[in-house]
Amino acid sequence: QPRFLIIGAGVVGSALADELTALGYTEVTVLDRGPLAPGQTPMTGGSSSHAPGLVFQTNPSRTMAEFARYTATKLRSLNTADSLCFNTVGGLEVATTPERLADLHRKAGWAQVEGIEAAVVDVDECVRLHPLIDRDIVLGGLYTPADGLAGAPAAIGMQMRRAIDRGATFFGGQQVIEISQRAGVVTGVRTTERTFEADVVVSCAGFWGAELGNLVGLRVPLVPMGHQYAKTTALPVLRDHRDQARGHADARLPILRHQDADLYYRQHGEAMGIGYYGHRPMPVDMASIEELTAAQPMPSMLPFTDTDFAPAWTESMRLLPALAEVGVVEGFNGIFSFTPDGGPMMGEHPALSGFWLAEAVWVTHSAGVARTMARWITDGTPDLDLHGCDLARFTSSQLTADYVADTSAQAFVEVYDIIHPRDQRSVQRGLARSPFHARHVDAGAVFHTGREWERPAWFESNAGMVDSDVTYPHDGWAGRNWSPIVPAEALATRRRVGLYDMTSLMRIEVTGADATNFLDRMLTRTVRRPIGTVIYALLLDESGGVRSDVTVARLGENTFQLGINGPMDIDWLQRHRADADVTITDITAATCCVGVWGPLARELVAPLCSIDLYDTTLGYYQAARAIIGGIPVTMMRISYVGELGWEIYADAAHGELLWDTVADAGEPLGAVWSGRGALDVLRLEKGYRAWGTDVDAEMSPEEAGLSFAVGKKHDFLGRHALEARVVRSKLHTLVARDPQAIVMGGEPVTATGQVVGFVTSAAFSALVGRTICYARLAPHLSVGDTVAVEYFGELLDFDITEPVLVDPEGARVKG
Ligand code: FAD
Repeated sequence: QPRFLIIGAGVVGSALADELTALGYTEVTVLDRGPLAPGQTPMTGGSSSHAPGLVFQTNPSRTMAEFARYTATKLRSLNTADSLCFNTVGGLEVATTPERLADLHRKAGWAQVEGIEAAVVDVDECVRLHPLIDRDIVLGGLYTPADGLAGAPAAIGMQMRRAIDRGATFFGGQQVIEISQRAGVVTGVRTTERTFEADVVVSCAGFWGAELGNLVGLRVPLVPMGHQYAKTTALPVLRDHRDQARGHADARLPILRHQDADLYYRQHGEAMGIGYYGHRPMPVDMASIEELTAAQPMPSMLPFTDTDFAPAWTESMRLLPALAEVGVVEGFNGIFSFTPDGGPMMGEHPALSGFWLAEAVWVTHSAGVARTMARWITDGTPDLDLHGCDLARFTSSQLTADYVADTSAQAFVEVYDIIHPRDQRSVQRGLARSPFHARHVDAGAVFHTGREWERPAWFESNAGMVDSDVTYPHDGWAGRNWSPIVPAEALATRRRVGLYDMTSLMRIEVTGADATNFLDRMLTRTVRRPIGTVIYALLLDESGGVRSDVTVARLGENTFQLGINGPMDIDWLQRHRADADVTITDITAATCCVGVWGPLARELVAPLCSIDLYDTTLGYYQAARAIIGGIPVTMMRISYVGELGWEIYADAAHGELLWDTVADAGEPLGAVWSGRGALDVLRLEKGYRAWGTDVDAEMSPEEAGLSFAVGKKHDFLGRHALEARVVRSKLHTLVARDPQAIVMGGEPVTATGQVVGFVTSAAFSALVGRTICYARLAPHLSVGDTVAVEYFGELLDFDITEPVLVDPEGARVKG
C-alpha cells in the first residue's frame, strides 16, 4: 500500500483522509501546522475554522454542482445526536432587480440539469421562508430545499475520527517546511519538528497553497484574499426561532443570498451572520501574514475594517429591517483563496511525481473534491470531468504573478455578479495578440479572449453585410456581446470565402525517434500514414473518456504538428511520455495561422501558392510545406467550418505579410474577414464539436458522436475500457421550431415534462433560419423526436435532427 501524507487538516484534508481510508488505504498521515488537540473540535486556524459554511449547491458547472451535492449528502449522513455536520435549512437567493429575477430562472434551469430540487418562488413565499425579509424590496427568489449549513469544524472532526478509526494518523503542530524528493519522485516531507516518509504527498493547505507550491517549484495560481464576515447582536425577533431550533442547531432560517448587493446571511441562534463581497479586493501578502494576523484569534483572520463594511450594513438593514434594532458585535476579514477563473486547483505536479494538491476549495465542494481526488490519485483517472479544476489548465502566460493577481481580483469582484457566457474579462487584456492584430483593429474587430489571446469575435467593418430585413432572434440577454454581423459573416463564408485568424488555436510539434510509436499509443487513430497526411483523432483517458480531440499532421518521418485544445493536452502527453525519445514543443506563439474557407477559397489561394491546388496533390486532410507570396508556410487542407479551404501556418514574424497577401488576393473575390462568432455558427451547422463545451472526459466517443474517429486496428490508451462502457447519453443536433426562438447553452432539455438532458452550445444560423444547438440527451431519444428547451423559464420546442445540417455528404469541403 502506498503511504499517503496530507498537508492540512482543514475541511478538504480531513475529507481526503476519510475518502482514502474508505477506499481501504490505511497508511494515511495528516499534518497541520495548527493545533489538533485530542478530543476537542479541530480548529487548526485555517479558513475552515471560521467558515460560516453556507452551501448553495447550484452552479454553472455540473462538476462543481456534483461536488456540492455529494458534500451536502455526505455531511448530512454524518450528523449525530450531538454533532451537526449539515443543517438542511434550505437556501434562498432573492432578486431585487428584474435582471436578477431572470437570472434566477436561468439558475433554476442549471439546478434541473444537475438534479437539484429548486424553484423560483414569489415574494410571499420568500417572506414565508425568511420572515425577516422586507417584502417591498424583493421581486422573488430561488429556493433550494436541500441547501444548508455545513458545520465545518464538526465535519472535520467527524471525518477525522472515521479516518483515524480506519488507521489514519493526524498530527497538529507540524508545519511542513520541505518536500523531500528523489529523481523526480516525492519521498516525504520535513516539518519544523521532524521528517515523515511518504509515497504520495497531497497539499490541502488552503490559502497557504502557493507557499507549499513554492517548496516544489510549482506556481499555484491562487491568491489569498480577505473577505468580510460579521455577526450582529441578538435580534429579539429570533428568540422564538432559537427556542424552536432542534437540539444543537443554531439556525432554522434558510441561508440567504442578496447577490444584487454582494451579500449573504445565515442565522447564528439569536444573531445574524452577514458576509460581504462588495468591498475592494483585499489580497494578502503572505510574506507578512504572521505580522498581519498576530493580534487575531487565528492566522486566517485579518482585523475587521468598518469602513469597508458600511455599505453592507446599510443595505442589510434595507433587506432585513429588523437589523435596525441591533448592531454588529464581532467581525473579521477572513482569508481564503481566489483563483483566475474561480475554479479550484486539483492535480499532480507536472514534474514531481506523487506530489498532488487540492486547494482553493470551498467548504461547499470539500467532500466532493476529496472523493474525486482519492479516486484520481489511486486509479489514475478522476471520476468527473475536471477541465475547469485541473491545475494544468493554465498556460505559462496565465501563471505570471500579475495575471494571477488581476484575474483573481476580478473573480472576487464578480463572485455574485450575473455572468453572461460571452462576458469578457476586463483585466489582463492584450496579453497575446496574433500578428494580424493591428490589421484587425483597423477593420473594427471586436475582440473576445481565448485564454491569454485576443481573438476577433466579429468585424464592425462588415456591418453593411447585415440584412436589415431580417429580425434576428436575439433578446437583450442573447444579444449581449453579440452582433447581427456574426450570422452575416457566417453566411458570406458559405457563399464566398472567409478569412479567419486561427492563431490562438494551440499547437505543438511532437518530434523524436519514438514520436510515431508514442502518438500511436496515445491517439485513437494511427499516425502511421504517409508524410503529408492529416488525421482527426481523440485522446482518451484510462476509462475511455474523451480527454481531447486533436488534428495531427505528419510533416516528416518523426515530425508531427498537433492542433490541441489547451495546456492540459500538453500536460497529458508529457505525463505519458515516460522515457520515450519524444520532444513536445509548444509552437503556438512562435507561429500564426490564417484559415481561408469558402467556395472561392481555391480561387483565392491557388494563384499565390507554390504548389498546384487544382490537382490532387493536396487533397482533403493532407498537409504540405509551400510558399505563399514568398513566405514559407505549412498548408493543411482541413476546415472547422465545413468548406473548401486551408489552414495556412507560418512563422509569426511573417504573419502580417501573410495576412496582407491573402487579404489583398481576397478583395476582388469579396473575401470576408470573419470572427469566432461566425466560426461557431458554421461548425454547429456542420456537426463539428467543441471539446470542453459539447464533449468532455465524462463522455465516450460513442456518446460524443465521435466513433468515426476511433480506429479499429491499433491499440491505444483507453481502448479496452471502451468495450465495457455503457452509453449514458448522446450528443444530438437540435433545431428550433420557432424562427424567433433563441437559447445560449446550459439550458435543460425536457421531454414530456422530464429533464432528459441539456444544451451544450447554440447559435443562430442565418442559413438554416433558426437557432441550432447541440444537446447531451438521454439515450432513448433519437432523430425525429421533439423536445423542449427551457430558456429563462419558457419552454421552446426543438426538433432532434440529423447530426449535420449543412452538406452532410461533405461535397463542399472536399470540393
Ligand atoms: P483550510 O481550512 O485553510 O485548511 C488548510 C490547512 O492547512 C490549515 O489548517 C493550515 O493550518 C494547514 N497548513 C497550511 N500550510 C501548512 C504547512 N506548511 N504545514 C502544515 N499545515 C499547513 N465556503 C463555503 O463553502 N461557504 C461559505 O459560506 C464560506 N464562507 C466563508 C467566509 C469566510 C469569511 C471565509 C474566509 C471563507 C469562507 N468560505 C466559505 C471558504 C472556505 O472557508 C474555504 O474555502 C475552506 O474552508 C478551505 O478549506 P481548506 O481545507 O482547503 O483550507
